[in-house]
Amino acid sequence: MISVFGSANMDLVAYVAQAPRPGETVTGREFRTIPGGKGANQAIAAARAGAGVAFLGAVGDDAFGPGLRAALAEAGVDTAGLRVVPGPSGVAHIVVEDGGDNSIIVVPGANGAVTGPAGRDAETIARSDALLLQLELPMDAVVAAAHVPRGVSSGAEVILTPAPAAPLPAELLEAVDLIVPNEHEAAALTGRDDPRDALEALLGLVPEAVVTLGARGALYGSRDGTRLHEAAVPVRAVDTTAAGDTFAGALAVARTEGAGPARALRFASAAAALSVQREGASTSMPHRHEIDRLLEG
Ligand code: ADP
Repeated sequence: MISVFGSANMDLVAYVAQAPRPGETVTGREFRTIPGGKGANQAIAAARAGAGVAFLGAVGDDAFGPGLRAALAEAGVDTAGLRVVPGPSGVAHIVVEDGGDNSIIVVPGANGAVTGPAGRDAETIARSDALLLQLELPMDAVVAAAHVPRGVSSGAEVILTPAPAAPLPAELLEAVDLIVPNEHEAAALTGRDDPRDALEALLGLVPEAVVTLGARGALYGSRDGTRLHEAAVPVRAVDTTAAGDTFAGALAVARTEGAGPARALRFASAAAALSVQREGASTSMPHRHEIDRLLEG
């Protein structure tokens, strides 16, 4: 079983020829309300990829809360640990221009009220094989969650997606088993622009690291000396939103099933390649049979 302790945001996406400048009003072409947030995305990706998943986090008592819960539940994610707190849910206000450029305002809302896991939530993490973390919750809460498995024999492996990029406190790094940044986050964390150099620097911080490289695939390294490069599956990408979250969710599934690093990378790359061929975040994540078919084909 996989626990995800993370954010749920409603993505409010407006499609427009050109984003408005300050003081300007423009008419958009289309508007969509899409459940997202890195935590919820990773939970849905892992559930679709075949794992039992529990989501731990919070939504507001506004109109978006039930929609966010329903999106998780529809994917088969256990939402018993999804709290409702007074005030607005997290939202990401996204403007997508015709050329594909986007600008995003994330307002954390209920995500900002999440505190370190206690009681039943801590028990859920303690029972898990993997714990997926990202950085869209308060850092103190993320650090507290990362330490729960350490008190348990054969505790969950802790997998961190360090996004949005932020300085990582030592108390967090000491509890992380595997870090999965994209190349920009890896550069921000290490000060090394070359992803291979960044990978080496990350291994000075945590035992295992994956640096995702978009259409160029992903690098893996471990302190035991293993180094791998998995090429991306060549596909025509229509929307790369949440490719990284799909990758992280699927990677966790493969690892909890006992896959070694090479097989886990291949599985995650296949899942992410399927997701970039479809629009949206949670809407684009593949089911297990699709991933298996791509890997067999
Ligand atoms: P993020 O979404 O976090 O920025 P990346 O862009 O690095 O992360 O993508 C994560 C993974 O998704 C890549 O390692 C790759 O496996 C897959 N991926 C991303 N873009 C493409 C693409 N254009 N074609 C095939 N696979 C892709």
